[in-house]
Amino acid sequence: MRIAFDLDGTLVPMFAGQFPVERIAWPMRAFAADPLRIGTTPLFRLLKARKHEIWVYTSSLRKPFAIRRTFLAHGLRLDGVINADLHAQASGARVASKYPSAFGIDLLIDDAPGVEMEGRQHGFAVLRIDPDDAGWSRKVVDAIP
Ligand SMILES: [Mg+2]
Repeated sequence: MRIAFDLDGTLVPMFAGQFPVERIAWPMRAFAADPLRIGTTPLFRLLKARKHEIWVYTSSLRKPFAIRRTFLAHGLRLDGVINADLHAQASGARVASKYPSAFGIDLLIDDAPGVEMEGRQHGFAVLRIDPDDAGWSRKVVDAIP
């Protein structure tokens, strides 16, 4: 499966202390523009071992190379990155704030209830993960066949 993760509020805290983050060694820290939610590294390793593709789908204007570098600093290679620019180019006149179907994405992991609602309206699969959910990565694993 091609699985895409939202950043803000899902893998990256929107404010300090929103959820615990992964600790990385100091030389790598300089390359990571954002901290990543605790559990991201083991989750991604497990999904990779099961041959899934891992993408990031963010409504932010972060540059794809900077997003890739943040994950690389954690030892994680992304298979694809969609930011607000790429979304606007590919989804054209569609009104949804995210449209994973345009990128062949099978499942979107996102914290926003609005995105979950859009999924129902436009027919794409969303697993909503609450920022307060300490068992979030287990929920992701359980949702993927
Ligand atoms: Mg979000």
